[in-house]
Amino acid sequence: MQVRITVSFPYEAPVSQSLFERASAVTPGGVNSPVRAFRAVGGTPRFMVSGAGPYLTDADGREYVDLVCSWGPMILGHSHPEVIAAVQEAVSRGTSFGTPGVGEVELAEEIVARIEPVEQVRLVSSGTEATMSAIRLARGFTGRPKVVKFAGCYHGHVDALLAAAGSGVATFGLPDTPGVTGAQAGDTIVLPYNDLEAVRTAFAAHPGEIACVITEASPGNMGVVPPLPGFNQGLKDICSDNGALYISDEVMTGFRVSKSGWYGIDGVRPDLMTFGKVMGGGFPAAAFGGRADVMAHLAPAGPVYQAGTLSGNPIATAAGVAQLRLLDDAAYEKVDAVSAELRALVTEALAKEGIAHRLQVAGNMFSVFFTGADVTNYDEAKAQESFRFTAFFHSMLAQGVYLPPSAFESWFVSTAHDTQAVERIAAALPAAARAAAEATE
Ligand code: PLP
Repeated sequence: MQVRITVSFPYEAPVSQSLFERASAVTPGGVNSPVRAFRAVGGTPRFMVSGAGPYLTDADGREYVDLVCSWGPMILGHSHPEVIAAVQEAVSRGTSFGTPGVGEVELAEEIVARIEPVEQVRLVSSGTEATMSAIRLARGFTGRPKVVKFAGCYHGHVDALLAAAGSGVATFGLPDTPGVTGAQAGDTIVLPYNDLEAVRTAFAAHPGEIACVITEASPGNMGVVPPLPGFNQGLKDICSDNGALYISDEVMTGFRVSKSGWYGIDGVRPDLMTFGKVMGGGFPAAAFGGRADVMAHLAPAGPVYQAGTLSGNPIATAAGVAQLRLLDDAAYEKVDAVSAELRALVTEALAKEGIAHRLQVAGNMFSVFFTGADVTNYDEAKAQESFRFTAFFHSMLAQGVYLPPSAFESWFVSTAHDTQAVERIAAALPAAARAAAEATE
């Protein structure tokens, strides 16, 4: 058995620091996706060089128990031998053909077999592409312009969806970022999450104009904020009553929280769904799918255009198929059990220090809010004492546990998180909880 280091790490990361300086010279902010830069928590982002099971090793040679899992995809842990073998076999046959291939049929069949509302599916390369295409399809299918989204729900960096709520119930989307025009965000209606009345009001105010409601099946991008009982069904019913499509974004929850994602938990039947992360086995593969009569509007079967040079890439589909085939009931039981064990440990450590917190759960996804009240929407999420998370995060990092570097992200575990990994997290938690308790703004 491999011996794992259990002592606290020195905090400095000189090799990562020097890589970050090099990266910052040639890449904006030194990273290719903003949250990786540690801006929310400060400090030096760790440059990882390898991953094995539940562990990541950084460029300074330090090992961390990974509770990010590549933001969800690595549900079997890193370098799972069967996924690696499938990738190696696929690579040996070539890397991209620009033609139809066997792997994409197999991956589509896996998805359709697992998720009953998905009658047809189109493969793309990122979750962003999946939501962007699903919205275009909804608009093309209904002939309507407007889209309803919820504050705090992230659907990738699609122009029309980079709009967040101001205050009030039915705020029209103001662009959240320079580079998105008023016109691009102007057809986006941003509403408070978990507020069905706001949705009814928006539909009443815009009869015949709303193409779709898009929601994270269970949000994980403002921290974990599950839908209140009846919320998703309410959305579905309002959409049905008004001739709009209900789009469930399962990029994060899909194939993670159950064999058939959040749909497997709440059973609310969407018109369209989006997927990514787990289904690509660590490679860029994503998808959108749903009702066959809606998907029939997609080119070349129908008039709504959508395409991709690397869509259905043979390496990505091989990894995805291998990963999904390994994700049987036993695998989900394992992930759920590890998640429950960790949640109990985190709760115990924080409670011992008397820290006001809420540990919120959606299947095996969870996150900690440093607040004394339940969090049901984005405003409540933002009201937490996130400075406590910063202290907590850095203490865990210094002790060799890699958490998401933001208080507004889900934590992810895998089938590879074994007793040793859990023990290492357990050993780190008391000091981290103390750091959180002692933190000041
Ligand atoms: N939708 C959800 C729910 C997500 O969590 C994400 C990414 O985190 C996306 C869409 C965008 O996916 P990608 O980063 O692959 O573009």
